[in-house]
Amino acid sequence: MKTKEKQMQTKEIKNFKMNDEVYSLRRKVINMIYEVKNHIEDLPRVEVRIGEARCENVLGLAMRGKRQLWITKKAIDMSEDALRNIVYHELVHAIFGFRHDDKCPLMQPTLKTILNKEDCLKNLLKYKNYNGGKND
Ligand SMILES: [Zn+2]
Repeated sequence: MKTKEKQMQTKEIKNFKMNDEVYSLRRKVINMIYEVKNHIEDLPRVEVRIGEARCENVLGLAMRGKRQLWITKKAIDMSEDALRNIVYHELVHAIFGFRHDDKCPLMQPTLKTILNKEDCLKNLLKYKNYNGGKND
């Protein structure tokens, strides 16, 4: 697809220009992706952008199955556990291609339940094992 060449962009989130501060924000997100990589060796590489939401309640966003995700500074400024829930949620969209699930504490459409690290990972790994069960 030709669109791959284009800069990674989304309507909902305005990308920050990369500078030292933004790199360190992005580092926090990438560190959480590495936590997952410790459990899923063949986790594909994911592109991460940091920005601010154009609509206030957006904390993160992913292109389903496209291995691209956005996390807002607002999300990064939340607690470590909250940020992890947001990052893992977007990873499930971005890598495994799943949609929302009201019954799943990780994949609820809005951040209602904040799971601890262990439960967060447990819920993410659930999707890895749904081989071929993508709900689209
Ligand atoms: Zn979502």
